[in-house]
Amino acid sequence: MSKAKLGKKFTQKSAEEFRGRLLGWYDRHARILPWRYTKNQKPDPYRVWLSEIMLQQTTVAAVGPYFNKFTEKWPDIHALANANEQEVMREWAGLGYYSRARNLHKCAAIVSKQMKGTFPPEQDELKKLPGIGDYTSAAIRAIAFNQPATVVDGNVERIMARIFAWPDPMPAAKKDLKNLAAAGLFENYDERPGDLAQALMDLGATICIPKSPRCGACPVSNNCMAYKKGIAAQLPLQEKKKARPRKFGHVYWITNGKGSVLVHRRPPKGLLGGMIGLPTTSWEEAGKRPSLTLKDLKGRDFGTSVRHVFTHFELELTLKTASHKGRLPEGYSWIGAEDIENAGFPTVFKKAVRLFLSQNRA
Ligand code: SF4
Repeated sequence: MSKAKLGKKFTQKSAEEFRGRLLGWYDRHARILPWRYTKNQKPDPYRVWLSEIMLQQTTVAAVGPYFNKFTEKWPDIHALANANEQEVMREWAGLGYYSRARNLHKCAAIVSKQMKGTFPPEQDELKKLPGIGDYTSAAIRAIAFNQPATVVDGNVERIMARIFAWPDPMPAAKKDLKNLAAAGLFENYDERPGDLAQALMDLGATICIPKSPRCGACPVSNNCMAYKKGIAAQLPLQEKKKARPRKFGHVYWITNGKGSVLVHRRPPKGLLGGMIGLPTTSWEEAGKRPSLTLKDLKGRDFGTSVRHVFTHFELELTLKTASHKGRLPEGYSWIGAEDIENAGFPTVFKKAVRLFLSQNRA
């Protein structure tokens, strides 16, 4: 271990102190969230699971309305399991990372039909279910079952990096930061493991925030080396990020002369798999010609383009209009132009539709 890391770990005493301060603060300042339970309520594993799947890579603010919509429509695991997959995909539209919606539905079917509607509390068993990985299984175990589990997300990594003034940059430091939290804070802590996990999430979301941490309001500043050294805002260090690659293609507004617009259900696997959207060419890197499944289509330039950032690349689609009267290949269908805004498109297609409609209506 390098000199800069020597002695950086929780002792039993410092961990108890840290948890005591943090949980005292949480009891006074816990955020009120639609999926949150108060001290005297028994968590419903269905709602905990649903919220944790929705929160993967997605903000609390974005998830709130979706969580409310889903739980109103499908109040328990059996209702969700019995829903039509395409309806689930449509209700998920706009939340992104669409494989989550497919896995959600698959997972609901397994828990409802093979487990009598009961989620298992063991992490190993939870991880066998579709869409549940290391972090989500730990969060469900801690929050839904109040059982000890190491719940480390980006918030907790950032807090640990600051508490210990960790010298290594992210993402290489992730493993060490998780081990620090596991060994000192989480392992064998069985008094309030669910609250501990949620208190850390709240601390990371409201006080120990990425750019300008609010150390003056922090309940654990006495335990924080970065605060004492005056370097909190610089941590965690980051390795230089490579620029995202860019891809290009065309997106089409194709009409049939009878007031309908052509839509395409994308193949079940891959990016936006199973989602419905406008027809597009393939998405290619600069210099490669995008290809189109609809043969002999002559598109006219619409004079603008739409941009969207995915996790691993940026996409620019030029807008084109066309008309089509022939037979349709598999996956294509017509819908009334008036229904297009409520068709359940993912965000990239919603952006394109907005542009097509705004300029058509102008
Ligand atoms: S003192 Fe500041 S840097 Fe340290 S944990 Fe609290 S908010 Fe984060």
